[in-house]
Amino acid sequence: MTQDFFNKNEWSIKSATEYYGIAKWGAGYFSISSSGDVVVNPSGADHGPSVSLKEVAMEVEARGLSMPVLLRIENILGSQIKLLHETFRKVIRENNYRGVYKGVFPIKVNQQEQVIEAICQFGKEYNHGLEAGSKSELIAAISMLQNRSACLICNGYKDEEFIDLGLHAIRMGFKVFFVVEVPGEVDLIIERAKLHKLKPALGLRIKLSTQAEGQWSESGGDASVFGLSMSHTIDVIERLKAVDMLDCLQLLHYHIGSQIPNISDIRAGAMEASRIYEELVFEGAPMGYLDLGGGLAVDYDGSNTNSHSSRNYTMEEYCCDIVESIITVLDKNDIPHPTIITESGRAIVAYYSVLLFNVLDISSFEPPPIPDKLPVFDNDLIENLMLIYNMVSEKNIQECCNDALFYRTQARQLFKHGQISIRERALAENLVQHTLVKISRVSRQLDHIPRDAQKINNLIYDIYYGNFSLFQSLPDVWAIDQILPVMPIHRLNDVPTRQAIISDITCDCDGKIDKFPDISNENKRLMLHPLRDNEEYYLGVFLVGAYQETLGDLHNLFGDTNVVSIHVNDDGSYKFIRELEGDSVADVLTYVEYDLSAMKNRLKDLAENAIQGGFITARERKSILASFEEGLRGYTYFEKE
Ligand SMILES: *Cc1c(COP(=O)(O)O)cnc(C)c1O
Repeated sequence: MTQDFFNKNEWSIKSATEYYGIAKWGAGYFSISSSGDVVVNPSGADHGPSVSLKEVAMEVEARGLSMPVLLRIENILGSQIKLLHETFRKVIRENNYRGVYKGVFPIKVNQQEQVIEAICQFGKEYNHGLEAGSKSELIAAISMLQNRSACLICNGYKDEEFIDLGLHAIRMGFKVFFVVEVPGEVDLIIERAKLHKLKPALGLRIKLSTQAEGQWSESGGDASVFGLSMSHTIDVIERLKAVDMLDCLQLLHYHIGSQIPNISDIRAGAMEASRIYEELVFEGAPMGYLDLGGGLAVDYDGSNTNSHSSRNYTMEEYCCDIVESIITVLDKNDIPHPTIITESGRAIVAYYSVLLFNVLDISSFEPPPIPDKLPVFDNDLIENLMLIYNMVSEKNIQECCNDALFYRTQARQLFKHGQISIRERALAENLVQHTLVKISRVSRQLDHIPRDAQKINNLIYDIYYGNFSLFQSLPDVWAIDQILPVMPIHRLNDVPTRQAIISDITCDCDGKIDKFPDISNENKRLMLHPLRDNEEYYLGVFLVGAYQETLGDLHNLFGDTNVVSIHVNDDGSYKFIRELEGDSVADVLTYVEYDLSAMKNRLKDLAENAIQGGFITARERKSILASFEEGLRGYTYFEKE
C-alpha cells in the first residue's frame, strides 16, 4: 500500500518541521537538525547549544536503562523561570507599574524533589518561591526553599498541624502567607497565631464571578468549591477587626483554573480581582500583594487559538494584560500598586520533560495481496468485488465506496447463514479492504474529497504499538482528552509514509493516542515511518512535565518508567545528572500488597508437586524458579533480550 501523502522528492526538514508542528508547540526548545533528529535547545530559540534526542536515547540504553524513559532537560526549567520574570519586568518597566513581580511554583504541578530543587536553585536570583496546598507540600517546601525573600504561600484546607507548621516557618524567617480558603479557617489561624504570639501575613482566596473557558472552568465562578464569596469576605474582615488583626491582611488570591486558553478571561479575572483588592484597601487592610493564581497556558497543539489544548496569547500578552488591568482599576483612586504574584505551574514545567519510547510492533491496515488466480466459488460475490476494485477512479469514488461496503455486509450475512466458507469471507473482506485503500489513494488526488471517502481515509491507518502505558505516563490524554505533541525523534529526512495511531501496551482499548496537534483539521492520524529491520524506531511525547508524573497510575501493573535528567552545557556537551530506575515487577506487586515471600513459597510448593506428579524434573524446577526470580527483578515494560 503506497499512501502517497507527501511527495517523496519534495520532502525536506522544512516539510517535517511544518507537518509535525514542532516550531509551533516547541517554543524554541525543540527543532529538527539537518541530520533529521529532533534536537533540544534548552536556552530556547535558535541560539545556544543543542542536543539530539536520538543520541541521548542511545546513550541511555547503552547505560543499561531500557525504554520507556522519561527524559528531563533540567536547563529548560531555568529558561522558563527566566522568561516569566524577565517578561514581567519588561512589561512592568514599560507601563511604569510601581510594584514588582514575584512568582511562586505550585508544588502540586510536579512534586518531584529534583524539580523543586532545580526551581529553587534557578529561581533564586528572581526570588521565585513555592506554593503549598497540603501539609506534605508545605514540609517539602520548607525543606527545599533556601531563599528567605521568596514567598511561601499556604493554600488548601488547613488543620491545626498545617497552621503550626507555617507558623514555625515564619519563626525560621520564611516569608509565609496563610491564604484563607474557607470561612471556618480564620478562627483557627487566629487561635494558633495567638498561642505562638505571632502576627502572620494573611491572604484571602476569593471566588470571582469571572469564569474561564477550558477544562477547568469550574475552578472559578460560582461553581468553584474553593474561595470566599463576597459576604464571606466581609465576615472574615469583621472577625479580623474584632481581634485587632486586620493589619495582618496583606494578600488577595484567586485561581480561576489551569490552562486558560482565552486571554480575555485572564484580563476579566485580573480586573475583577483588582476591584476587590481596592475594596479591601478601603476596608483598612494594609494589603500589598495580589496573587493571580495559575492558569498561564501552554500551547500544546501549536494552534495559538482558544482551543482547550492551546492558548490565544503569548507570555508577553499575559503579563501585559495583568499589569494593565491592575493599573486601570487602581489608578482611579490612587491605590498603590501591589506586588504581583502568579502561581504558574504548567507553564514553568511542561516543556522540560519528554517521554521517549520505542515502537514494538505494527498492526498494518495493509491487506494481504490479492491472489493472482482467484479461486472459483459458486456465487458471484468475489467476481463483483473484483470488478468494483478495478473500477475505482476519480469519477466514481462515492459509488465504489457504497458498493464495496454493500458487498461486505452481504458477505458477512452469507457467512452467518452458512452459505459461504471462512475462506470466501476472508477473500471478500480482503478485496473490500483493497478497494477502500484504492479509494483513499485516488481521492487524495482530488481537490474536493467526497465525505465518505474522507471517512474512509480516517479508517485507514496502522496501529503502532509503543512501549509505554498511557495511564502511567500520559494520564491526561486518557482522562481529559489532552492533546500532546507526539513525533518520531529521528529519520526526519525520510518522508513518513504510514498513516498511524499509537497504542500503548496495556490491554485497555482506551490506551491509545489518536488525536494529534491540529496538523490539518480533517486528519486525526499521524504520519510515521515504516519500521526497519534490526533498527529501533523511537517516538517522543513532548511537553509532559506538568501534572503527568504523579497523576499516573498502575493500570495493568505498569509502574514508573526509568527517568534520566540531563544538563546541557554551553558547548553543546551534556551530562547525565540523575538517573532513577523505574519500578520493577516486585515493586508494583508490593504496591498492591502482594507478599513476595509468600508468593515464592507458593510457587516452590507448586513446582515441588509438579515433580511429585511427574510433570517436571528437579532441574526444570530450578530453572522455573530462576525465571520467576528474574521476572520479579525485571522492568514492568517490554525489555529487549
Ligand atoms: C493548580 C493550581 C495552580 C497551578 O496552575 P497552572 O495552571 O498549572 O499554572 C496554581 N494555584 C492554585 C491554587 C492551584 O490550585
